[in-house]
Amino acid sequence: MNATTIKTPSSSNITPAVAARYWQATLARDRRADGSFVLAVRSTHIYCRPSCPARRPLRRNVTFFRTREEAERQGYRACLRCRPNEIAASVALVQRAAVHLAGGNEEAVRLGPLAEDLGVTEATLRRAFLQITGLTPRQLAEALRIQRFKKMLRAGSKITDALYETGFGSSSRVYERSNAQLGMTPATYQKGGKGMKLGYAIAKSPVGKVLVAATDRGVSAVYLGEAETALVSELRKEYPLAEIAEAPDTYQRWVREIVQRTEGKPPQADLPLDLQATAFQRRVWQELQRIPLGSTRTYSQVARALGKPRAVRAVAKACATNPVSIVVPCHRVVRSDGNLAGYRWGLARKQHLLDQERRASATA
Ligand SMILES: [Zn+2]
Repeated sequence: MNATTIKTPSSSNITPAVAARYWQATLARDRRADGSFVLAVRSTHIYCRPSCPARRPLRRNVTFFRTREEAERQGYRACLRCRPNEIAASVALVQRAAVHLAGGNEEAVRLGPLAEDLGVTEATLRRAFLQITGLTPRQLAEALRIQRFKKMLRAGSKITDALYETGFGSSSRVYERSNAQLGMTPATYQKGGKGMKLGYAIAKSPVGKVLVAATDRGVSAVYLGEAETALVSELRKEYPLAEIAEAPDTYQRWVREIVQRTEGKPPQADLPLDLQATAFQRRVWQELQRIPLGSTRTYSQVARALGKPRAVRAVAKACATNPVSIVVPCHRVVRSDGNLAGYRWGLARKQHLLDQERRASATA
């Protein structure tokens, strides 16, 4: 790639709203945003991570990319101060170390031999661990003693997903970063919603009754159906340990926004989410939120967009387990033969939602 030509002025599928958020993170030099995007400076042909200590460029010279690969494909070079290209190398190193640790049975981890096995210095290994996981290798080794974690890694899960799953990431960079990236609050709840206080309201919509359940931090469930009692019992089944109460007025703004979206209207306001989810589910759901109104994607297209072309079935499963229909528009995912595939709330509703959105976007 010719390093001096910059081809397109703006990056693919980054909306002005997202770009505005990225710019805020850039101005704040927000470390939590590192890894979720890079900023490329047209006047210097350099790209940086959001937290780069260098002087902020002018907004009009900045293009955002979700990945450093995209920036490099457009001819930008990595900044020598913030070294945005090193994150990937650290991830790979930590991944390799984790496989080592997961296979071993030692009581205590000896950093020296581990680094030697991996062909790096102790300092490099420690820095990579802190950067990627927020844990020292020793702390990670403790985590690895937990059976589930070990099993997940052996089954091929990514270290970041496994950290997330077992809750070990709760104090880690990875966790913060994923969180910042997704606009979702951390899943601090235990299974079953223990410790969660959920209020719900039921409203009418063009696709039947819509139940919206939320905590103070965001929306936790959006269900569609006919009978109110069935919707409420579905909610209790999903969160058997949560404190659940009817709260018709508390979350009015969110309910109104969701009902409008069931009418095929474009989003008017951001909807914060407060969910329990694995890292993979979060990635899929975020990808679904990028499908524009009036369009659909196939499961394979979503898998490819996530950089995991073979994870089609896992994507389908994440769609099927989406707890916040409409807000995460899983109804916009269809089979590659054009068939609608399934929908938790019935195919008729899926069809209706898609028809409405197509009409709305055609007249917009
Ligand atoms: Zn930089």
